[in-house]
Amino acid sequence: METTKMFINGTFTDAINGATRAIRNPANDAVIALVPEAQIVDAELAILAARSAFDNGPWRKTTAQERGKLLLKLAANIRSHFEELVVIEVRNNGKPKREAEFDIEDAANCFEFYAGLATKIHGETMQVPANSFSYVLREPIGVCVQIIPWNYPLLMAAWKLAPALAAGNCCVLKPSELTPLSALRLAELIHETGFPEGVVNIITGDGAVCGSALINHPSIDKIAFTGGTLTGKKIMEAASKNLKRVTLELGGKNPAIFFDDCDMDLAIDWGLFAAFANQGQVCSAGSRLLIQDKIYDEFVARFLNKIPEIKIGYGMAEGTNMGPLISKAHREKVEAYIRLGVEEGATLLIGGTRPTDEALQDGYFLSPTVFAGVTNTMRIAKEEIFGPVCTLHRFTTEEEAIQLANDTEYGLAAGIFTKNLNVAHRFSQALRTGVIWVNNFQPTYNEMPWGGYKQSGIGRELGLYGIEAYLETKQVNINLDETPVGWY
Ligand code: NAD
Repeated sequence: METTKMFINGTFTDAINGATRAIRNPANDAVIALVPEAQIVDAELAILAARSAFDNGPWRKTTAQERGKLLLKLAANIRSHFEELVVIEVRNNGKPKREAEFDIEDAANCFEFYAGLATKIHGETMQVPANSFSYVLREPIGVCVQIIPWNYPLLMAAWKLAPALAAGNCCVLKPSELTPLSALRLAELIHETGFPEGVVNIITGDGAVCGSALINHPSIDKIAFTGGTLTGKKIMEAASKNLKRVTLELGGKNPAIFFDDCDMDLAIDWGLFAAFANQGQVCSAGSRLLIQDKIYDEFVARFLNKIPEIKIGYGMAEGTNMGPLISKAHREKVEAYIRLGVEEGATLLIGGTRPTDEALQDGYFLSPTVFAGVTNTMRIAKEEIFGPVCTLHRFTTEEEAIQLANDTEYGLAAGIFTKNLNVAHRFSQALRTGVIWVNNFQPTYNEMPWGGYKQSGIGRELGLYGIEAYLETKQVNINLDETPVGWY
């Protein structure tokens, strides 16, 4: 079994009191590593290290070009450990190898994208109504606490660290207590890459203890959080106490809308991907499928027909395209939602059970599950289930589809399947979500802004918008008029 250490001030370390947490492989419940269980004092040390690196260290004096080069070197380092990182991600998260490969590749791309942007941060000059030379400077915010979830462990770390570092900030990153292993390996790669000590600190621990100590610490400047909406509300409350900058990437209950004229093969293909990729544990999962009247029966028949082809198993096993859920407790939560759906009167069309395969009995597997006869007042249609469960809804008119799609407190993403360009544009404007996909679902680009409307979050990550979230704006005015002001 692996024993790993946290990364504070350029040193690999245990928790001061020696506490550890057992990390499990969700595919077979085996303990695969012991990691430090950071307490309040460890969180404080990490913040102190980042504070000192920002206030006194060399980081702020490095040029944007140097920061860009280091980020490029880190991306290359990730690429040269690609296979190893894929295995870590699959063992700790359970996701199929193909999905983990995509994540690691995307994480390296993210560091490369922001490496390029480091040298493109710039202010501007302004005309003001006085004889003054006035300009705007963009500066790093300072010490950023970054808290991430378990569904894309390394990719979420990249989304947080890459723009923050490119902008010149220092970071304390806390991965999920369930999936810290790839972030801890990333810490080693960061160290080898040559980032100055204290610039990146990665600590492992419980949300309510270590996470809470980080977000409530007065010496931080910003909190960047990805996770559940309930936790997001706690983060915002903590940030409000000391008026820290805050960005939140939260949950979703995302509609995928299939119109009568859509390409049916493509629609089924993307519909399955929307609902079941990463076992449905995706903030932007298409968990509500809205299908227009004329194609409803055919769509449902073909959709259900494909589901038995989804191969559930170990992520590293050839052909697996659905792994286990993240934990025993999480599977129980998803199963409780399935029971609730039946109690609420929805029709369970397929799934809702654990696979019977003898080899999978120790893992947290659950078969893909589909409900029909669902109304928007049911909790299974309103709440984020975060598992391989989707609900089917029939609609007739465009107005009805817009009403159904927007009838949620979330607003992260939506998909539209149609060949009619006007419908695609009309819906792109009418849907109250931060991301719209037309004739596909889930592609996420480092170049494009990511984030939600309503209770799906505040602020944007990725793209130029992502680096904005890590910059302060300062105005400088230089009086060019040497005559005395003569006010008194
Ligand atoms: P979670 O909110 O339970 O935990 C997320 C992180 O917050 C973990 O690191 C956890 O330790 C920490 N945490 C928990 N309580 C805390 C507290 N009181 N103070 C500080 N930190 C605390 O979420 P999860 O179960 O890990 O992840 C699933 C959720 O993440 C889903 O709701 C999903 O939609 C969301 N998510 C959103 C996006 C997005 O981009 N919008 C991306 C991925 C996941």
